[in-house]
Amino acid sequence: MRCVCAADFCSLSFQRPVAPICGKDCLFDGVNAVNKSNKIFVAGHSGMVGSAVLRRLEAEGFGNIVMRARAQLDLTDESAVAKFFAKEKPDIVVVAAAKVGGIKANNEHPVEFLLENLRIQNNIIHSAHESGVRKLLFLGSSCIYPKFAPQPIPETALLGGPLEPTNEAYAIGKIAGIKLCQAYGREYGANFISAMPTNLYGPNDNFDLETSHVLAALLRKAHEAKLRKDQKLIVWGTGKPRREFLHVDDCASACLLLLEKYDSPEIINIGCGEDISIRELAELICDVVGFNGDLAWDTTKPDGTPRKLLDVTKLRDLGWKPAIPLREGIARTYEWFRVNCV
Ligand code: GDP
Repeated sequence: MRCVCAADFCSLSFQRPVAPICGKDCLFDGVNAVNKSNKIFVAGHSGMVGSAVLRRLEAEGFGNIVMRARAQLDLTDESAVAKFFAKEKPDIVVVAAAKVGGIKANNEHPVEFLLENLRIQNNIIHSAHESGVRKLLFLGSSCIYPKFAPQPIPETALLGGPLEPTNEAYAIGKIAGIKLCQAYGREYGANFISAMPTNLYGPNDNFDLETSHVLAALLRKAHEAKLRKDQKLIVWGTGKPRREFLHVDDCASACLLLLEKYDSPEIINIGCGEDISIRELAELICDVVGFNGDLAWDTTKPDGTPRKLLDVTKLRDLGWKPAIPLREGIARTYEWFRVNCV
């Protein structure tokens, strides 16, 4: 019989206890403790992050999870969201619903990225407060930080300088969400926390070449180039920017830890603490996929921010670490892509 607080973490980095709580420093000793009978609303449960959180909650034995498909509940509809919360009265909310996209989509559609995200998060956060939600986890993004933030980026870098123009609208939307959570905490004592995941990838990622993020796009490009026996694969930008990539299942395990252990209005980063250049990523993906041609660079496409590596000291100090190395995560995602998207 073991308890989490006795540092009995599994190889997946974090696991609920298999025994009753032991007392001192235990994750389950506080008034904010999350338990398996709590009603948890995962907003955005069919997206990459929401579906990973859902898988993790189910695997951990949470049995009272509420979800709504987009056709059932339009999260941009204020009165529909208010009615849903008034009726369901969840205890816990995870805000994984958002309009997301890669550098091209963000750059070309700032209006949609700003408006839709503001609507979704305002509706959820406000209704969560009105209906007495006990804890809410709002998920942001590493792009909320200034373009030239110190690296690795500490949480304190927020609002310390101008944003990267290609995703400024999305970032402003997410910053507004953080500030709204903090405002509900300050004014009404709400326990609404905000976490900032780094670049994520994994099952249910978007593999559309126009709107996806880089890792999913390059997986698809390498796969198709291999099938066509192409000589070269076109990668956007110069290949010099550096990004940090975290498998979404690792992000989900961090989210559960934060639900159970983190009750501060201060934002907290979720990342693996390592970054690679886009060139290195492209080479790794070609290797995993088995594409042996050359890389060609389309420098008419933007590079975006030069580097995005999060400082994850705060999260690590809570006892969390990632479990899925990048190469393995890419291989697993490629397998998922072949089964589900080809
Ligand atoms: P970002 O992290 O917000 O910049 O978003 P992305 O994941 O879309 O892009 C990261 C970096 O990968 C940028 O420097 C892109 O120019 C580069 N990149 C290279 N090839 C591609 C591609 O095919 N799709 C995308 N989305 N980005 C690419």
